[in-house]
Amino acid sequence: MARLFEYQGKTIIEDAGISVPRSEVISTADEAQKAAERIGFPVVLKSQVWVTGRASAGGISFAESQDDVFAHATRMLGALVKGQQVLKLLIEEKLDIASEYFLGMTIDDVRKRPVMMLSTRGGTGIEEIALKWPESIARMHLCPDRDIYDFEARDMLRRVGIRGVEQKKLIPIIMAFWAAARKYEARSAEINPLVQTKDGRFMAADCRMTIDDYAEFRHTDRGIEIAREFDRPATSLERIAYGIEAGDYRGTFYFFQMTRDFEKGEGVIGFHGAGGGGSMMSMDALLKRGYKLANFCDTSGNPPSSKVYRAARIILAQKNIDGYFASGSGVASQEQFHSARGLVKAFAEEGLSAPAVIRLGGNAEEVAIEILRRFSAYWPAPLEAYGKDDSPEFCAERLSVLLEKPDIASEWKRFDFPSSVSYSFRTITGRVDFDHERCLKCEEKPCIDACAKQILKLTDGVPRLAIAEDAAAKGRCTECLACELECHLLGNRGIKIELPISGLDDEAAS
Ligand code: SF4
Ligand code: SF4
Repeated sequence: MARLFEYQGKTIIEDAGISVPRSEVISTADEAQKAAERIGFPVVLKSQVWVTGRASAGGISFAESQDDVFAHATRMLGALVKGQQVLKLLIEEKLDIASEYFLGMTIDDVRKRPVMMLSTRGGTGIEEIALKWPESIARMHLCPDRDIYDFEARDMLRRVGIRGVEQKKLIPIIMAFWAAARKYEARSAEINPLVQTKDGRFMAADCRMTIDDYAEFRHTDRGIEIAREFDRPATSLERIAYGIEAGDYRGTFYFFQMTRDFEKGEGVIGFHGAGGGGSMMSMDALLKRGYKLANFCDTSGNPPSSKVYRAARIILAQKNIDGYFASGSGVASQEQFHSARGLVKAFAEEGLSAPAVIRLGGNAEEVAIEILRRFSAYWPAPLEAYGKDDSPEFCAERLSVLLEKPDIASEWKRFDFPSSVSYSFRTITGRVDFDHERCLKCEEKPCIDACAKQILKLTDGVPRLAIAEDAAAKGRCTECLACELECHLLGNRGIKIELPISGLDDEAAS
């Protein structure tokens, strides 16, 4: 889910017709002074970082004069707030606050509907407020396909004791807030605090909105770079990973870095899961043994081999990992050999140098395990492959054993690719290249039988497409990698499946 913090959130709220304090975003102390002059004193300086609770972390200051603004802005810009560097500040009109309210919506997972919450006690800790002062909160379940009526808003206000002129002013705010949340397909949103100033105005002093990942493409006006719920700016590897996911609708690929700037030998493991619950158990099994996780990665929902290949290469781009652990749900209906082929290609191309344990539980897991074993001579590090009957605990224990005395081969086979290309066709995210000179000398031609989709056929003794090039490019070639892997096993060097990863080559993994 993409989170829109203060400034963007305010724009949405303002567009919906709810008043917000005058404010400007700046990135230098000089700009801060100019903005404060335009806005008028006193002002608040707010660090623009992706965290809540900024006030207690020194991320908010108040200024009465130009000298104050300059001093605070100089101190705050470049400083760390909860581990994040402040690059921008919001200079905002300081409100003369009489009272604070909370207005929010989220999804009620039990009722499977949005629910709105209104509290007469704004500020931090709405969960605590709900426990201590339940009478201060009113909830209302909402229909996602319609706006709310004024009598519904009035009823909420009445339940927390708001009547009279305040009620009249708050009804349109509640209606506009839900209309904005609906418009942007928010999974959660809040105005906190919604303040009443001493002169009787209501204003959204701070807001946050989380837009559903899958709705992001309908809201490109928001400029959401990565439709994920990150609590910090994305790393370059995360950006690269998101680019892959955004460009390939098949299956799911999620990648999030958890440990960075680590050295070899610190026990940091590259993690590759498949499916939420099984991945959690698998990560727990590693953490219990004292390992740290370099990343969380999920490839599930029947991803093609090419997507698993790219995921594995991104995990391996974290150069100092001590081990590679793949373990997921264990009962996946997707055919596990697709994942196995993707891993094999990545490990062979990158020359896997960290011990690996791969647990591919689910449909056709025996085939998947066999593929990994057949190719184990193609990288220097030891790799053990298991299925669903081998628990994540057992597999984590096996990785511990491998890491105790890593048996890294000094010589190993490598994937050898054609030196010249005489025939190519495009796939949905890449290209298949053949060296037909070599194919003519190949007696077995296993690539033809390996192609379960039967889109390759022998023509004049060499493999060519049996379908139109356009059809292959639109997905009839599923990028299953089977043809390439069978060719490598023969050592024939007749084919290469080129699967570019935009940005990875320039990435010096941090
Ligand atoms: S297995 Fe390799 S060398 Fe043999 S025909 Fe297929 S692509 Fe060509
Ligand atoms: S040509 Fe066939 S075997 Fe090769 S990647 Fe495409 S679908 Fe798979």
